[in-house]
Amino acid sequence: MQTIRVGMGFDVHRLVAGRAFWLGGIQIQHEKGLQGHSDADALIHALCDALLGAAGLRDIGFHFPDTDETYKNIDSKILLKKTMELLRSESYELGNADVTVCAEAPRLNPHIPSMKVCLSETMQVAPDAISIKATTSEKMGYVGREEGIAVYATVLIYKNEIL
Ligand code: MG
Repeated sequence: MQTIRVGMGFDVHRLVAGRAFWLGGIQIQHEKGLQGHSDADALIHALCDALLGAAGLRDIGFHFPDTDETYKNIDSKILLKKTMELLRSESYELGNADVTVCAEAPRLNPHIPSMKVCLSETMQVAPDAISIKATTSEKMGYVGREEGIAVYATVLIYKNEIL
């Protein structure tokens, strides 16, 4: 019997001066960066939450609390790797992930192929299992004013159970 489950994740981080801009596991040149306890990679955080949600394993804050100094400025790829280990310990594997980033700037489309390679290597899945899309919010709201960026992630996970 195959168990199939879906999960969704959402994350927002504020754009501030004086921080490196990390998204989808890679660093992108931009005059601002994302503020947060870790490297603030909102794409990876949304993806982790989608994966954990699909498996019924709570959320990223539960496993990696931002009150814990261990996670200060941590590379979010480490959190993603640990999240995949948690899922695989429950015999789950990724079917596919579909991610939408809402950002007015920087332009993300040229970076999407590198993000896909980076995430697929981190997660140990095929690159075509990961889709990343970029959109703006047409200059409206906090995304439109470039105060922050928002990311939505949807995943499908599965496990094959021997009965
Ligand atoms: Mg976050």
